[in-house]
Amino acid sequence: MKILTCLYEDREQLGVEVEGHVVLPALDSSGSALPADLLGIINAGDDGVAALRRFIETAGRACRVPVTEVEFLAPIPRPPANVMCLGWNYAEHIEESAGAKVHDSKLPDHPVVFTKAAGSVTGPYDDIPFDTTFSSEMDWEVELGVVIGKPGRRIAARDAMHHIFGYTVINDISIRDVQFRHQQFFLGKSADGACPMGPYIITADEIVNPQELDLSCRVNGETKQFSNTRYMIFDIANTIAILSKGMTLRAGDIIATGTPSGVGFARKPPQFLKPGDVVECEVEGVGLIRNHITERDHPV
Ligand code: MG
Repeated sequence: MKILTCLYEDREQLGVEVEGHVVLPALDSSGSALPADLLGIINAGDDGVAALRRFIETAGRACRVPVTEVEFLAPIPRPPANVMCLGWNYAEHIEESAGAKVHDSKLPDHPVVFTKAAGSVTGPYDDIPFDTTFSSEMDWEVELGVVIGKPGRRIAARDAMHHIFGYTVINDISIRDVQFRHQQFFLGKSADGACPMGPYIITADEIVNPQELDLSCRVNGETKQFSNTRYMIFDIANTIAILSKGMTLRAGDIIATGTPSGVGFARKPPQFLKPGDVVECEVEGVGLIRNHITERDHPV
């Protein structure tokens, strides 16, 4: 299932995309027995997904609206925690970073982990405001997002895939000058609108092998990144095992699994996003998000 959150008739609603339509349980009185939002579905575990699936299979026309009539929000618009992110998880991205002298060329023995503020999460087609008084270096990073379903601590790699609710597309928008200036990634990764995500969470049962997916990023139609999730240094199962060694992973936690090569700062000469640009991120079988960069208004 492609489970989403959208605005319809000025209300934030849980929906499921089915063949060009969105099914909105809240439009049908029998849908009121379901959890009200996507986090509620995730928290309800297998029973929540099964109940939603049953509803979709029998849903009447009254709760189906064309996909063009809803406004997509991030699938989890207000994540309960920061988005966890892997840095330098593709060898070719380490190589290009070494070329730009911001990293050595050695592959990491342990994953580099940082977070993006939960408040940076924004919708799959939302404008991304670029504050030119804050930075001149806004960059793109397409990533496969993993959403945790079943909570756990000390999850073994062999069990890890059973803890995944589903997958989504993330653009880990990065403010490079701030990121490098402050040593620690958090400020440079957490600007308003710096975590576009969606357009939906596709449930894990629909992705046969998440380590075999093409991922790409285009800016104004020009391909900047193209790779495959098979090239991750720490695969998804091992990432979950490592993250959960000392920390409980909770339902609804989001993990951005790292970006491949082709980012702007490592190009010669470096390239960055600017107001007016359109950036698209796509993961095969998972979805495509498209965002316009706009100049942020500044009150005088
Ligand atoms: Mg990243």
